[in-house]
Amino acid sequence: MAHDEKKRLFIGLIIVALMVAAFVAGVIWYLFRTSSKLGQWLWFVGILLLVGFLAYAAAGIFSLLVALVTGRNISILSNAREKVAFAFLPLALRLGTLLGVDKERIRASFIEVNNQLVRQRQLRVHPQELLILAPLCLQKAKCPHKVTHDIRQCRCCGGCSVGGLLELADKYGVHVAIATGGTKARQLLHDLKPKAVIAIACERDLVSGLEDSRGITVRGIPNRRPNGPCFNTLVDLERVEEALKAYLLPNEKRGLSKP
Ligand code: SF4
Repeated sequence: MAHDEKKRLFIGLIIVALMVAAFVAGVIWYLFRTSSKLGQWLWFVGILLLVGFLAYAAAGIFSLLVALVTGRNISILSNAREKVAFAFLPLALRLGTLLGVDKERIRASFIEVNNQLVRQRQLRVHPQELLILAPLCLQKAKCPHKVTHDIRQCRCCGGCSVGGLLELADKYGVHVAIATGGTKARQLLHDLKPKAVIAIACERDLVSGLEDSRGITVRGIPNRRPNGPCFNTLVDLERVEEALKAYLLPNEKRGLSKP
């Protein structure tokens, strides 16, 4: 799925959700007009709260749509935008299920949206503040080297993407680690305290990782799974290098010169 197509799906689902919200608001207004006095007061308080919430949500949605459609970043609304995007995800997944849209496509769409917002934030970091986080399923199943605790056990034999990631990490001087699951990933984030992360995983794990690591800037790169899920998966190393260059400060993105 092309990047623009992925974004369109997410934007489309936002618009459907807005239409549903407008319908619900109309029903509430009708009840407000026909209730008793006490009922009217209750509705009034409820509507005040709702208006406050909707105003915040509308600001977030507006900022999100402006960011996705025009590529412009309204920095004052970035918090509202991020909260709206994450709050909207479960709704998008449910709505997508009702409309017969594959959940993987919605998650891929969300990751693409997240990556665009990250790009617009234009965060630049030093190599030691950047972590590449990869799943164990990238390692060739028959490889005898234990890369789980120390990725440097990899011999860079070219048998799988782990060697390529290690070479990229060495070239740019960034951290790289293998996460066997969410707990290990959280532990690595806690220990290394990166300001920016390039996370590689399936769409499902990436989305849950993005939700878990709010506050850290994370670009997601879905792995490729020609052999089925969780087995001898692959990653596009060019995409990883592109993300590395986009994150690193200008004088750091040429990579370290080899001795
Ligand atoms: S690149 Fe080779 S040595 Fe490294 S993890 Fe893959 S198969 Fe093992």
